[in-house]
Amino acid sequence: MTNLSENKSNNHLIYLDHAASTPVLQETINEMIPYLGDLYGNPSSIHTYGIKSKMAIRIARRRVASLIGAKSSEIFFTSGGTESDNFALKGISKCIRNYQGEKNHIITSSIEHDAILETCHYLEKDGFTVAYLNVDKKGIIDRTELKNHLTEKTALVSIMLANNEIGVIQPIKEFSEIVHNFDKRIIFHSDAVQAVGKIPVNVKELDLDSLSLSSHKINGPKGVGALYVREKVNFEPLIQGGGQELTFRSGTENVPGIVGFGKASEISMLNLKENFHYLYYLRDYFINRINEEISGSMLNGSLESRLPNNVNFTFLGINGEDLLIKLDEDGILASTGSACSANLQKESHVLKAIGLNHEEISGSIRFTLGIQNTKEEIDKTIRTLSRRIKELRKFSPTQYRD
Ligand code: PLP
Repeated sequence: MTNLSENKSNNHLIYLDHAASTPVLQETINEMIPYLGDLYGNPSSIHTYGIKSKMAIRIARRRVASLIGAKSSEIFFTSGGTESDNFALKGISKCIRNYQGEKNHIITSSIEHDAILETCHYLEKDGFTVAYLNVDKKGIIDRTELKNHLTEKTALVSIMLANNEIGVIQPIKEFSEIVHNFDKRIIFHSDAVQAVGKIPVNVKELDLDSLSLSSHKINGPKGVGALYVREKVNFEPLIQGGGQELTFRSGTENVPGIVGFGKASEISMLNLKENFHYLYYLRDYFINRINEEISGSMLNGSLESRLPNNVNFTFLGINGEDLLIKLDEDGILASTGSACSANLQKESHVLKAIGLNHEEISGSIRFTLGIQNTKEEIDKTIRTLSRRIKELRKFSPTQYRD
C-alpha cells in the first residue's frame, strides 16, 4: 500500500479526505509503469507497440464495465468525473433536441456537484429549461416532486447516486422507475462518482441510461474517468478529431491512466464487500463518539441512507476553516465540503439545501474515510477534535458554551 503517512517532521498524518481524492495502490502503480516507460506506443498505431497499448485499453474497459455491470462497448473513457457529467448532459440532451425538437426540458437536483449544476446553467443559456428538485432535511429528493416535474418535453433527468458533501444515497432505482414509467424515452443519468467503489452499483439493476465515474475516487490515478452510455442511446461527441473512443471522444488516449483506472476498478470490485463493512464500522464508531463526547454537534444528512465512509458534522460556535487549520497542524487532514470547487470561499449549496443557516454551514466539517484508516486514528481524531473545538469556542463570537 502507498505510504501516506510521512510528513516533513516524520509525524503520522491522518488522511480523512477520501471524497476529495484517494491514494493510488502500489499494485495499480505497478501495472501503470510499463505504459509510462517502454510501452509508449500510440494505441491507434498498427505496429507491435500500438497493439500492446490498444490491448491494455481493452482490458481496462472490460474491468471498468464489470465494476458497474455494463458491457465494454458501453464504456467511454474521459478525463474524469467532470468531463463525464458534461459529456452526458450536453452530448445526450443536444442529440435529443436535434432529433426530437420539442424536447428541451431537464430535471436535476439542487444538491448536485458543480459539474452537473454548471453544465445545466450552460444548457439554460442554450435554450433548455431546467428544474432543480429540492431535498428534505436529510438530503433526500421527494418522489412526488420528481413526478410533478415530468412533462412531455422532458429529455433528460440527472440525479446523483451519492452526494459528495453529506454522503446521502438517493433511491435511484425508484427514481428511474418513475421516470421510465412516465416515458421510456427519457434518459436517466446518474453522477455516481462518489458511490462507485463504496456501495454496489449495477447500471442494469438501477435501470440507468447513463452514469459518470472517476478513477481518482476509487484509488486510481487522477485525470481519467468514464461515462457509461446504455447501448442504443444516441449522443453527440464533445471533442472532434481523430475519432478515438468510437468517434465520441477524440484525442490520443491516456494509456497509463486508463490502465490504472482499470486495475483500480478490478481491485475495488474484489474488495467491495469487505471494504464496505470495514468503513461502515469505522464510520459509525466515529459518529457515535462525536455524538457522545462533543456537545453542540449535529450530523448533516441521513444516517440511514449514507455512504459508509462519510461523516459530516456541524460544530456550533466554531468556524470550520479555523478548525481545519488547527486539525492540519495536528496532522489530521479533513475538508469543509467539496474540494472539487476552485472557489473555496463559496458557501455549501448542499448544506443550504438541507436547511442549515449561515452559522451552521460555516461550522461544518467533512471527514471521509478510507480503507487505510484505523480505529486508533479515529481515537486520536476525536481527542484532537474535542480539544480544538473547546479552544475555538472560547473565542467564539456566537458564544457557544458547553
Ligand atoms: N461528481 C461528484 C459527485 C464529485 O464528487 C466529483 C469530484 O469530487 C466530480 C463529479 C468531479 O470528478 P473529477 O474530479 O474526476 O473531475
